[in-house]
Amino acid sequence: MDRRGKNLTGEAWDFRSWIKTAVTLIVLGIIIAIAGTGLVARTTDRMLKSDARIEAENWSSYLTLNITDYQQILEGVAPSPASQTFFEQARQVGRVYRFKLYDLTGRLRLSSDDPGRTKQEQANLFVEIPAVRPMLDSKQPFVRVGEIGSGGQTSYFAESVVPVAANGKPIGFLQVLISQDKRRELFLSAATEGAVTMGILLAIGPAWGFWYRTRQKRSIERRLNYATTHDPLTGLMNRSAWLRSFSEALSRTAPERPVLTVLSVEISGVRFANETLGNSAGDHLLKVSAERLAEVAGSTSFIARIGASKFGLLAAPFSDAMDVAKLAQTIIHDLSKPINFHGTNFSTEVSVGVALSPTDGSEQVHLVKAAEIASAIAHEAGRNCYRFFDASVEKVAERQRQLERFAGEALDLNALDVHYQPIIGLKDGKLKGFEALLRVTHPELGPLSPAEFVAAAENSGNIERIGAWCIEQACRIARQWPDPLTLSVNISPIQFESGRLIANLRRILDKTRFPAYRLELEITEGIMLGDAEFIHTQLRTLQEMGLRVSLDDFGTGYSSLSYLWKYPFSRIKIDQSFVRQIEESPMAKGIVTTIVSLGRSIGVPLTAEGIETPGQLAFLRQVKCEYGQGYLFSRPVPSAELAAIIIKDFAGHLPQKKRRLEQRVATPEVTSGSS
Ligand code: C2E
Ligand code: MG
Ligand code: MG
Repeated sequence: MDRRGKNLTGEAWDFRSWIKTAVTLIVLGIIIAIAGTGLVARTTDRMLKSDARIEAENWSSYLTLNITDYQQILEGVAPSPASQTFFEQARQVGRVYRFKLYDLTGRLRLSSDDPGRTKQEQANLFVEIPAVRPMLDSKQPFVRVGEIGSGGQTSYFAESVVPVAANGKPIGFLQVLISQDKRRELFLSAATEGAVTMGILLAIGPAWGFWYRTRQKRSIERRLNYATTHDPLTGLMNRSAWLRSFSEALSRTAPERPVLTVLSVEISGVRFANETLGNSAGDHLLKVSAERLAEVAGSTSFIARIGASKFGLLAAPFSDAMDVAKLAQTIIHDLSKPINFHGTNFSTEVSVGVALSPTDGSEQVHLVKAAEIASAIAHEAGRNCYRFFDASVEKVAERQRQLERFAGEALDLNALDVHYQPIIGLKDGKLKGFEALLRVTHPELGPLSPAEFVAAAENSGNIERIGAWCIEQACRIARQWPDPLTLSVNISPIQFESGRLIANLRRILDKTRFPAYRLELEITEGIMLGDAEFIHTQLRTLQEMGLRVSLDDFGTGYSSLSYLWKYPFSRIKIDQSFVRQIEESPMAKGIVTTIVSLGRSIGVPLTAEGIETPGQLAFLRQVKCEYGQGYLFSRPVPSAELAAIIIKDFAGHLPQKKRRLEQRVATPEVTSGSS
């Protein structure tokens, strides 16, 4: 497999297969040679026997045709001189080495060795060759082959005994001994040739079959292996194969040297392409991105598709981080160039995360995770940028995950509570109402910042449920407060986006019987980023329901004032970051003065958040900011402490109240808070 994951072993048949086939061929050859030798011997014997039988039969016919006195000979009469001459000549010209005539009882009547005499007439065929009788009885010719040796020389003979008949009646037997040396040679070479040819054919067949089968098997194995290790769309390695090559690379490196660089490359824009021109457009984007990445990465890096729109790159050693940064920049530059699909240009954005071994981990799983976290951070940072992994980021990410999990179970765990912070009229020092603020206690982490928890609840999709719980809880408490004290609750932009906020509020107001005109919803500038028409409609409905809506943390967010005219806010809350700097920064003073006069000019009252010092209070009074909130008056307190604050405020008449406020100014924290 090459570093891009393409399979290079391809069509080549490897050495091991050749060896296997060669060994198989040799073994087959030996088997065939052994079998062939036996076969050739048996075949030659069979051919010689058959030849001897035919020769004997021919000889018998020949004798009966050419010898007129053979019947007499078989009856014991000596052959005529003519017959003797014939026997002599016939023996010399043919292959017949010797022949003998026996009568039906097996008694020898003539031998070609002694055609004129009958001295062997005592010899008996059935005694000499007992095996011949059953053969002749069953009318089968008797044939046997073998070697005869004399004087150190051996000759091959075939001996045949065939019946001799006269007028269709058997009258005796002819025994013929035929020299088979030449025939045997001929038959042997023919049979050997045949056997060799057969052997070759027999060996080639299975060998070819074996070779073909092995080849097929290997091809299937290769294809299967390819399918399980590669991404079918881009042809790159898939995540698991990449991680394997990664582990191998890691095991080859010396642990103390920072040799491995892992990049996680996230492509944005694929979803958009899928949604606009169908999945083939998105596929095209991924394919082209993969090709470009392969080009940039070069042959020394391992690249793979490790997620839907994510590539992984295990790069070659770099001498310093600047080179890695350069590589990341080139990847961003090349991969973010527009990609044309059937005439439409799609632009992709690239987020690159970098992790280095061993700084960011020496195990593959940690390095990949680190690179992926870093690329997620690059994505968050606006894309088309790269980020090196930072261990502290990982901790933050882990905590976020923990909080998001917790957000889903916080209500069931009774981990939530609501505290209330007084809102004071700065002109008269009178209590105007309270802001409900969520309090969260994690079973292990302890008290959590509501801002952090709210973000986790937003991310995990739990804010609607938690927000509604918080409002209901606060309304139930606020119902006991004397009119006209108001209740302010914070609403997340997500609660607006869901479209269920109005219905939830109606249900809560109905259930708690808290009057809508005393409920104020605090929203932040972030809400302006949503669907303007949808938000506007909801704000109008809320207004029609008699609810008030205030703009929280003013000055920190969207930085466009146009919505101040567009939406019917009942109050603007100056962010505490300005209030905090009033005493030190003339610019903060200027901003606060401007915001207050802006509010006055559009007829919307202001509340200053985070008043902590008498100096801040004095300045805010001076610029005629209507309301204030802060530790100077009170920290947010649990509901149990509200009665005391309310009673104190309402019991005192104006001069007493003034005195108390003066006292408060002298001693900032007048009410014990729990936050
Ligand atoms: P916020 O709505 O701007 O609330 C004011 C924050 O300022 C509160 O922080 C409050 O405790 C703090 N604060 C009040 N006076 C002072 C002061 O004199 N000095 C300082 N340093 N801080 C002061 P808290 O309770 O931590 O809440 C933080 C934010 O969490 C809130 O900002 C609000 O945006 C969000 N939040 C709290 N409760 C809820 C809730 O029920 N729903 C939603 N959606 N958001 C909530
Ligand atoms: Mg608020
Ligand atoms: Mg605020």
